Amino acid sequence: MPSGSCFCGAIKLSFTGDPIACGLCHCHDCRKLTSSAFSVSYIVPLANLTLTGATPKEIHKSSDSGNKVTNYFCGECGSPLYGKGAFGENVVVRAGCLDGDELEKAAPQLELYSERRVPWLGTCEGAKSVKGMWKPGQEGEGKEVEEKGK
Ligand SMILES: [Zn+2]
Ligand SMILES: [Zn+2]
Repeated sequence: MPSGSCFCGAIKLSFTGDPIACGLCHCHDCRKLTSSAFSVSYIVPLANLTLTGATPKEIHKSSDSGNKVTNYFCGECGSPLYGKGAFGENVVVRAGCLDGDELEKAAPQLELYSERRVPWLGTCEGAKSVKGMWKPGQEGEGKEVEEKGK
């Protein structure tokens, strides 16, 4: 069972079952959220997620894709933990907080907002580049969705 914690360890999280997908996201929100060039996340049913320890802080925002999203992070150390709102009843678990070899084992299937990938970064092998946002159900279809807005 994948499990991890924030940087300071005040919050631990884990999830059961297989993730719906693992994806990278190159959107500008994810840059801000992770303070990095892209995010790596697992899309997981909310019911499969377990949190222990301190209560995460939440921040609400309209995302790049127009969804109303809530992001949960440690109020002590600021580590992003997961987000809600982009994929219905599923949450987006930030994979970098997972311990062990979860990231090494990850085989991302999707690169969202691939048109915003920084020019010095290659494509992720085995992952489908999707323009803009992606919705569960499109997996394996190879469909590209039109970028909304910008
Ligand atoms: Zn923390
Ligand atoms: Zn994103």
